[in-house]
Amino acid sequence: MTDQNQTNNKIPRVDPNLCIGCGLCVTTCGDVFALADDGKSYVKNPSGCAKCNCQEAIDNCPAHAISWLEQS
Ligand code: SF4
Repeated sequence: MTDQNQTNNKIPRVDPNLCIGCGLCVTTCGDVFALADDGKSYVKNPSGCAKCNCQEAIDNCPAHAISWLEQS
């Protein structure tokens, strides 16, 4: 019952004030991130991170704009 729950209580978030719109997170986690019309990344599907590696996107973001948002 716990095999899929490890990341269910936290979702990635993008700080639009920090994002420089490089698109790397979209390349890394295209199921989760997308670029908006303003060129900034946003989280289009938080639950999509169950099947990709959002930690990699967080670690590689050159602007350190992605972080985990803990949910209870
Ligand atoms: S990797 Fe970081 S700076 Fe680049 S688009 Fe994604 S959130 Fe923005």
